[in-house]
Amino acid sequence: MTIDDAPRDALRGGPRELLRWVATGAAVSRADLSRLSGLSPSTVSQRVEALISQGLLEETGAGRSRGGRRPRQLAVPTGGAVVGAIDLGAHHARVGALDLSGRVVQARTLPVRIEDGPEAVLGALLAEVATLVGSDPAAGGGAVAGGSAPGALRGVGIGIPGPVQHATGRIVSPSRMPGWNGFDVAAFCAGRVDVPVIVDNDANLMALGAHRTAHPELDHAVYIKAGTGIGSGVISSGRLHRGAQGSAGDISHCRVVADPAPPCTCGNAGCLEAVASGAALVTALREQGVPVSDLTGVIRLIDDGDRQATALARQAGRAVGEILAVVVNFFNPQVVAIGGRLADCEPLLASMRATLYERCLPLATQTLLIERVAAGQDVGITGAAHLVIDHVVAPA
Ligand SMILES: [Zn+2]
Repeated sequence: MTIDDAPRDALRGGPRELLRWVATGAAVSRADLSRLSGLSPSTVSQRVEALISQGLLEETGAGRSRGGRRPRQLAVPTGGAVVGAIDLGAHHARVGALDLSGRVVQARTLPVRIEDGPEAVLGALLAEVATLVGSDPAAGGGAVAGGSAPGALRGVGIGIPGPVQHATGRIVSPSRMPGWNGFDVAAFCAGRVDVPVIVDNDANLMALGAHRTAHPELDHAVYIKAGTGIGSGVISSGRLHRGAQGSAGDISHCRVVADPAPPCTCGNAGCLEAVASGAALVTALREQGVPVSDLTGVIRLIDDGDRQATALARQAGRAVGEILAVVVNFFNPQVVAIGGRLADCEPLLASMRATLYERCLPLATQTLLIERVAAGQDVGITGAAHLVIDHVVAPA
């Protein structure tokens, strides 16, 4: 069993949780950690010492005294770029260097031609990670080499805009990624960097990044990523839920009511992706004779109040709401958040919300938060960094 599969209770007071309490500011001392975890001061001290020796925690100065000796304060080392992150999209990639608290130290957006194939695309992006980590003075050097010294690169997290078999890091039957099917991303990257490389799909990374940034206190959440493609990531009992193979949350080929049902890249018709994704909106507008070349053009038309584009956005919102209603009735999350480039599209969001309220049990929506993902363009690389941070913090 990996630590990802361990039941949450088994991790109460585990090193990962101790680190998270310090990173989020919930704890600043060993006494805080002891109180939060219910563990004895000596057990907490043992785990804290181990985290300090791995360079994952540091003790800074002294806290406020309540009489007697002043307690030392715990902190997650910040400022040094120690985690590399890649959030690959259909046309762009966001590449970043982050510190152990998940804070972005350096980040850059690069144009990508996904059709150039995995070796060329990933090779270039890994080189960019090396440059970003190397250009950070705190990281002390340009090579992508690992180690436990403060500032050394600990790992690289990569988000792929398609289905990823989590255990192997392999891409399985992606839409719009010619030449990528079956590609072993983890093995390819392992040959180029000597630190752990963790691969997941982009919606899962957005879910993790948004959850840790906006709602770490909520246990059950669903995040929809609506951009060129459409997908979702699920947080259950505070953890990313991947299911048996890593396909949990992949709603792209769920069937929705659409007449006529547009054909989908998977061979079926009427899939959510064929109705509500950015790519579907581009196709539908072109078929109506509107000369639009990409999602940016579609969003501009919607913002300008174009009748055809707005009608399609409403239809897309209803389709997303329809699938989301099933998910909410089944899973009963505390928050549903939508991110990706279509999240700013007001007509889509309004129809999604209306459909959700109409189709859900009152008990499921009574206290349900429905919102936009607020973390912006770095949410994916933030999730990628947390994936790595969780991985490098050894279980007890
Ligand atoms: Zn499909």
